[in-house]
Amino acid sequence: MNLEFSQEEIKFRQEIRQWMKENVPEELRQCTARGAMPDKAMQQHWEGLLAKQGWLTVTWPEQYGGPGWTATQRYIFDLERAMSGAPATSPFGVSMVGPVLYTFGSDEHKERWLAGIRNGETLWCQGYSEPNAGSDLASLKTRAERQGDHYLVNGQKIWTTQAHWADMMFCLVRTDTSVKAQQGISFLLIDMTSPGIEVRPIYSIDGHHHLNEVYFTDVKVPAENLVGSEGMGWTIAKFLLTHERTTIAGVADIHFEIERMKTALKQRDEEYNASQAARRVAELEIDLMALEYTNFRTVAATDDGKPFGPESSGLKIKGTELQQQASQAMVELGRIQSLPWDNEQVIGSKTFNCASRRYNFLRACTIYGGSNEIQKNVLAKMLLGL
Ligand SMILES: Cc1cc2nc3c(=O)[nH]c(=O)nc-3n(C[C@H](O)[C@H](O)[C@H](O)COP(=O)(O)OP(=O)(O)OC[C@H]3O[C@@H](n4cnc5c(N)ncnc54)[C@H](O)[C@@H]3O)c2cc1C
Repeated sequence: MNLEFSQEEIKFRQEIRQWMKENVPEELRQCTARGAMPDKAMQQHWEGLLAKQGWLTVTWPEQYGGPGWTATQRYIFDLERAMSGAPATSPFGVSMVGPVLYTFGSDEHKERWLAGIRNGETLWCQGYSEPNAGSDLASLKTRAERQGDHYLVNGQKIWTTQAHWADMMFCLVRTDTSVKAQQGISFLLIDMTSPGIEVRPIYSIDGHHHLNEVYFTDVKVPAENLVGSEGMGWTIAKFLLTHERTTIAGVADIHFEIERMKTALKQRDEEYNASQAARRVAELEIDLMALEYTNFRTVAATDDGKPFGPESSGLKIKGTELQQQASQAMVELGRIQSLPWDNEQVIGSKTFNCASRRYNFLRACTIYGGSNEIQKNVLAKMLLGL
């Protein structure tokens, strides 16, 4: 693996940087600068701008509308995106169900759903977890019974991020109760406007509404919305989770947070600069560099068509730990200035506004996408053979 950028890659980087400079909406840039969360309209507008450029689905194969970039180009793109102050794109369509559809979907599925994801028009959410099926996902109970040309779905999902924004949910349902738990699970695409669906908000520790409970009461889902065959849901779910775990490492956004800290350090006096805080930031930067190389190596290995393996669990563990450490360092650096977290305006310091909101929210990143304890179990089993 060559870690030096070639002349073409340097040129590519300049082009992306320039495009970001000219196209990231000022409102969005300001929102990120004050550490706040974009709302649905802002996020969708931004994703629409990327889509027009053909840059929303940069990881997709060219035949499905990807730009045909190498892993290095994708890395450069994501870094420039984060450093320009633009948020990461919502992963549910682009990084999760999209790859499932072009890998396991029928021609009709590809025809019907891929364009909406590529254009940023259809928003998706992930219906995996249930009240008694998180880490032990195979014990999920939401039932889908085949009745002629449709399935009748009954049950409940929980922690469903952006279900209140989404047009569609990709959902794990139980279609057979007579076989081993994993074999009775299927992968169903559900229109969120279907009668019988109720979405109830859950407010998280940062005070925002990201999460939901979703209830299904006799929801009719057309049989053609089944992906793969009945009982194939577990295989598809595992494929999707490895994709989810590599995007969860969040390398580019940790860079942005560290840059924010470096700027803050420079604004302090000499004495402060030489203090423990500067050392802490340097240590974080070194850890980030190690994560970055590992992330890059894993992603580059998929350029020749190799699927993601259990390495994605390692990336998830290290990436999320680092996200938490960086957010904690930020709060400690800002001290009292880190406390206000008004989403709409800066209270006190722009640099540290919402730092404690991010700190609080990121306590969840070692839980979502499969908890880090579960990732350690995966590594022990798949890589160490324990
Ligand atoms: C912010 C956020 C967003 C989320 N978004 C979504 C979403 O969009 N869609 C979705 O489907 N789900 C989502 N989730 C749910 C998430 O995937 C689950 O919370 C996660 O899988 C853990 O399940 P659980 O909460 O039921 O905890 P449990 O499974 O009850 O685990 C509780 C604790 O026990 C540990 N534990 C459990 N089993 C083992 C074991 N075998 N070995 C060692 N330790 C173990 C866990 O690590 C954890 O610390 C989200 C969660 C959060 C917090």
